[in-house]
Amino acid sequence: MYDITAIPAFEDNYIWAIHNNGQAVVVDPGDAAPVLDWLLRHDLLLSGILCTHRHNDHVGGIEKLRAVYNVPVYGRQHEKNPHISHDLKEGEKLGLHEFGLTFEIMEVPGHVDDHIAYYSPDEGILFCGDVLFGAGCGRNFEGRVVQLHRSLQRFASLPASTLAYCAHEYTASNLSFAKVCDPDNLRVAERIAETARLRAANQSTVPFTIGIELTTNPFLRCTDPAILHSLRQKGYRADDEESAFAALREWRDKF
Ligand SMILES: [Zn+2]
Repeated sequence: MYDITAIPAFEDNYIWAIHNNGQAVVVDPGDAAPVLDWLLRHDLLLSGILCTHRHNDHVGGIEKLRAVYNVPVYGRQHEKNPHISHDLKEGEKLGLHEFGLTFEIMEVPGHVDDHIAYYSPDEGILFCGDVLFGAGCGRNFEGRVVQLHRSLQRFASLPASTLAYCAHEYTASNLSFAKVCDPDNLRVAERIAETARLRAANQSTVPFTIGIELTTNPFLRCTDPAILHSLRQKGYRADDEESAFAALREWRDKF
């Protein structure tokens, strides 16, 4: 058995901790101090680190954590990521037996080339790093924008009940964009109200389900007639799904 708890870091990062009564595995520890503090307060030992990608706000705490806990660091090996001790590739399985959890590895390029996600079909949970956010998606820093689109489509095809644990609290800001490009979507309006309620109570909007993303995230809905209409009104060419997605990402970058 296990619980999943958010350890807040920096401005808006979540370092996710999978834990039981004795040990914890953390996902994307960009900073060591809040993790060490949290482990101490809960009397837990670190047993492993999962890494989705090599941006510093996801890997910056690994060295300090490993100076205290010499634990395996799972992720995709890359010349610019010196932290990974156990390389993971598409389709491989990672068992965290202490929690009775098995993840399938998904290679999901488009934010950076070597981004991976951890998906447990049995538990219906997904650690998606910076590829999918609440009502939005990551920036296309590396690779082609079509790769980001394909990676998001893979998440969109998971069961609607899947809980996605992304690494940033961006939902409110993403919904402001969703409201502009998908103005008549009642589910977006509902989610804006719910998000405002949660944030006012200092609660996280993450995790969220793939189901709510399918109805409110413009990046998973780029062929929706209302969104295509907004894109064309904005002067973008949106002849097919890929050009619509690329236009939406470009619009969001300038928003
Ligand atoms: Zn990133």
